[in-house]
Amino acid sequence: PVRVRFCPSPTGNPHVGLVRTALFNWAYARHTGGTMVFRIEDTDAARDSEESYQQLLDSMRWLGLDWDEGPEVGGPHAPYRQSQRMDLYKDVAEKLLSGGFAYHCYCTTEELDARRDAARAAGKPSGYDGHCRALTDEQVAAYEAEGRPAIVRFRMPDEAITFTDLVRGEITVQPENVPDYGIVRANGAPLYTLVNPVDDALMEITHVLRGEDLLSSTPRQIALYRALIELGVAKEIPLFGHLPYVMGEGNKKLSKRDPQASLNVYRERGFLPEGLLNYLSLLGWSFSADQDIFTVPELIEKFDVADVNANPARFDLKKAESINADHIRLLDPKAFAEACEPWLTAPHANWAPEDFDRAAWEAIAPHAQTRVTVLSDITANVDFLFRKEPVEDEASWAKAMKGEPAALLTTARAHLEAADWSDPESLKNAVLTAGEAHGLKLGKAQAPVRVAVTGRTVGLPLFESLEILGKDRTLARIDAALA
Ligand code: GLU
Repeated sequence: PVRVRFCPSPTGNPHVGLVRTALFNWAYARHTGGTMVFRIEDTDAARDSEESYQQLLDSMRWLGLDWDEGPEVGGPHAPYRQSQRMDLYKDVAEKLLSGGFAYHCYCTTEELDARRDAARAAGKPSGYDGHCRALTDEQVAAYEAEGRPAIVRFRMPDEAITFTDLVRGEITVQPENVPDYGIVRANGAPLYTLVNPVDDALMEITHVLRGEDLLSSTPRQIALYRALIELGVAKEIPLFGHLPYVMGEGNKKLSKRDPQASLNVYRERGFLPEGLLNYLSLLGWSFSADQDIFTVPELIEKFDVADVNANPARFDLKKAESINADHIRLLDPKAFAEACEPWLTAPHANWAPEDFDRAAWEAIAPHAQTRVTVLSDITANVDFLFRKEPVEDEASWAKAMKGEPAALLTTARAHLEAADWSDPESLKNAVLTAGEAHGLKLGKAQAPVRVAVTGRTVGLPLFESLEILGKDRTLARIDAALA
């Protein structure tokens, strides 16, 4: 059975690349009926934060990406936070040392740097040169007597390592390109290089799906895995699949620090989780040649790592927005109205919370649903309903008031006053008739009415908007515009 893992380090805010990795693992687990393991790699006390940890959990929940084993859920391999598993790593490091798979390395940074520079100057490989690989007991005793600190270094086998990447196919790495590497710091703190594969082994992970930036650590991990199998710690080497880079603006790798990369930005703008998931799943995968809008169940049905593309994916904000807009249209109208409410009742909105009128909102919502790309767009579309006065936008006013708007507005007001306010058709006829009196087509005639009442030149269907705003408020706004 498939066991995948999502194992972020709790540093900074969740970003697009991270979420794409979580999503592909999750979709693969759900597609195969496998298990999604969520593990927190918090062994770097200097960079990890509790706030970031909480945000990770919160983001996963918001996206609807659940996990079968992990924080708050538990599971047979608990705990799922590496900071609580230190004894396990210590134990494995000792086994590696006593089995001869790892050794103590006493080289100082200065010595390493000097030898690296010399190797470079001589045109030789500049990785760790194996200096401490085979120290005699006397040498060790001498270093110990000097009080030199020692790290634990993993002994790479002197042979090429070949594996079949699920995305990229067969990859072979020559031994001179993978020198021995540190797995435990001198102060005893285990490094990512150790804890990540050890946990994958202990948690019986079958498929490691992660970003291409980690491709270079895979040969080292495979070698470590082989040692763990010999020691009886691991059963089998997992399959690896490296997901393509995500390119941002100017065809540069999307960096964590890019504002476009922050998940929170999308959430705050009012992306729907399903819209964002739909878009993110297209970063390296495709549903079909002629369909790029799909639901989460459809994604689960089709998703397979075998179909992930090795080419870099391009993050395209316009496309993300358009996909999100489509998902907004797919919502049941009631769900749409509910989803927008946080934006309409937020303290920062341009009206007091008590001026929010739920009945008016529910009446106008169906007209707004086809016009928003992200939920936060809603406020500008419906603010005329809740604000005491419409937005004052001089430019809109000037544009709509070309010609003889004041005369038209006066005529329109008179016809509107006499109209049937329970019927938008009647309101439309009122403005139509007023327009005719001034030689204006409906489009031109309704422009000043819209600006007077909503403050904007474009917006939701006007006559439905007027009906919902109500006769008194509409006429008062026209009067204010005429005053
Ligand atoms: N904690 C690692 C990271 O955040 C996980 C890498 C991996 O998936 O192996 O980059």
